[in-house]
Amino acid sequence: DDPENQPSDPNYTKVLKKYFGYSKFRPLQWKIINSVLNDKKDNCVVMATGYGKSLCYQFPSVYTQRLTVVISPLISLMEDQVLGLKAANIPACLLGSAQEDNSLTRSNLLRGEYRLLYITPEFASSASSLLSQLHQKIGIDLIAIDEAHCVSQWGHDFRAAYRSLGCLKEEFSTVPVMALTATATVEVRRDICRSLKLHSPIISCTGFDRPNLFLSVSNKTTAAVDLKGLLHQTRNGLHCPTIVYCPTKKTTMEVANTLAVLGFSCLPYHAGLSLNTRKQAHKKFVNDQVQIVVATVAFGMGIDKPDVRKVIHYGAPKDIESYYQEVGRAGRDGLPSDCHAFYSDSDFAVSRHFINEIKSEKFREHKTLMMNKMMQYLASASCRRRILLSHFEGQERLDVGGTENCCDNCRKKIESSRRQNYYSNKNWQTADTMVPQDQLVDLSREALDLFSAIKLTEGRFGLMVPIQFLCGAHSQKLQRMHKLVRHQNFGSGKYRPQKFWKALGQCLKFEGYLKEQAVDRGFGATVHLSKKAEQWLKKAESSRSLKLVPTQDLLSELR
Ligand code: ADP
Repeated sequence: DDPENQPSDPNYTKVLKKYFGYSKFRPLQWKIINSVLNDKKDNCVVMATGYGKSLCYQFPSVYTQRLTVVISPLISLMEDQVLGLKAANIPACLLGSAQEDNSLTRSNLLRGEYRLLYITPEFASSASSLLSQLHQKIGIDLIAIDEAHCVSQWGHDFRAAYRSLGCLKEEFSTVPVMALTATATVEVRRDICRSLKLHSPIISCTGFDRPNLFLSVSNKTTAAVDLKGLLHQTRNGLHCPTIVYCPTKKTTMEVANTLAVLGFSCLPYHAGLSLNTRKQAHKKFVNDQVQIVVATVAFGMGIDKPDVRKVIHYGAPKDIESYYQEVGRAGRDGLPSDCHAFYSDSDFAVSRHFINEIKSEKFREHKTLMMNKMMQYLASASCRRRILLSHFEGQERLDVGGTENCCDNCRKKIESSRRQNYYSNKNWQTADTMVPQDQLVDLSREALDLFSAIKLTEGRFGLMVPIQFLCGAHSQKLQRMHKLVRHQNFGSGKYRPQKFWKALGQCLKFEGYLKEQAVDRGFGATVHLSKKAEQWLKKAESSRSLKLVPTQDLLSELR
């Protein structure tokens, strides 16, 4: 072990063993805890789900015997944590919930009886006098802000009360603040540090890879057909806790009914059901009394169940960030788990509509990018893990993928290379052999033709019109533009079918060469060249080449 990862003083390890039952800190945990205890530093902690965020903020005051204030968005989540801590002989309490006896808790708090105090962000903004009293009497070691991405509108769970938490740092300037999240695009991270007014925070970031999650995608037909097979698969015949996410309350009910008729043990969960019904569903799921919860994304934060074996999206996930968060609920115990998405192209119409309504141009573009990334992930014929990780880590992750346990696309490639080896009389490859991935295809000529056609149609249409132009199709819209049908390039793309051009357009959009702009009303969008495409066009012809990793659709057109 790197000495930076573990304390040299054995007292820390004793406390770790005694209260938490672990014999070692995980890399990063000690670095963070040490910076709080010994340097009073602010921290922004970005950790993949399952890595062990809780210990980072629970350990310090257990060690010092003083107090940590934890701000967390959900009462149920806090209740679970408080119960868990009490069971480990760590006195903890929660304020602001109707169930607790607040006055008794307060007086116990002031006597220094608790190591951890959990509150909601709403409660935090009204509790400054209590917090200052506590700080004076017993001393607050740390203010931890869990699910800190809720401060950011760039994130996926924006919550207004988080915005005002910056006042804590102003009031308690000597108390270290630790912001924690599992979501981390660069924008969100920046927003967290700025809004919470952290003073030169230490930023710790784990990798985002969850190697135990197998990623796969298929087209949607009907719930009965699609889900039956998937849900019957068990892992070694064991009970297989599963979350099926649906985009709306209506589909949630429909899918839950379908599964019930098929004889699965399942319950629905969405914001339209009574609090009690939801609580029951949650409880039964956590206690393994029901195998499947069919839910909207309302079933999310606070599901502290380490052995969720499958997360299935029935209908396209909204965007890449939400998707990462949602599949993150599978396999927190580190054991192999499956994440499967069913989708059809029309699934994005509603998201697109909502995005078009966003007033701020910058924010609208950001949301469009997130949605396009999701579409790319679903449509891709190459390694899905690579798409996911490259998005979050901001750089191409060439070191992942290519193994049988990675994703459906990698698995397919391995199977087909095995078949080839078999027929060419060679030995079968072993299961974990890496196969070369994601071959780039030179599509310079085609891209040039498509870009020119889009320019000619002056960005007034979606992709269809420039494609009809290339294929020399006489559509109504084209007929109205006499200049176009008489243009020398009309029909110049007949060397490829319409389907090819559509798939190429999609792929160029994912790679950032094309962008869409919403039209004022309705669901439509016009297509335009991005800066990237304009720059490419400016290059000298001899040095201009455009190579792409084709999507599933484009790949089948190229074959
Ligand atoms: P997160 O909030 O980051 O998703 P948790 O705090 O719930 O993660 O921890 C995830 C799992 O890792 C839990 O089962 C926890 O018991 C375990 N864990 C955390 N820290 C350690 C450690 N130092 N050694 C062993 N297990 C740990």
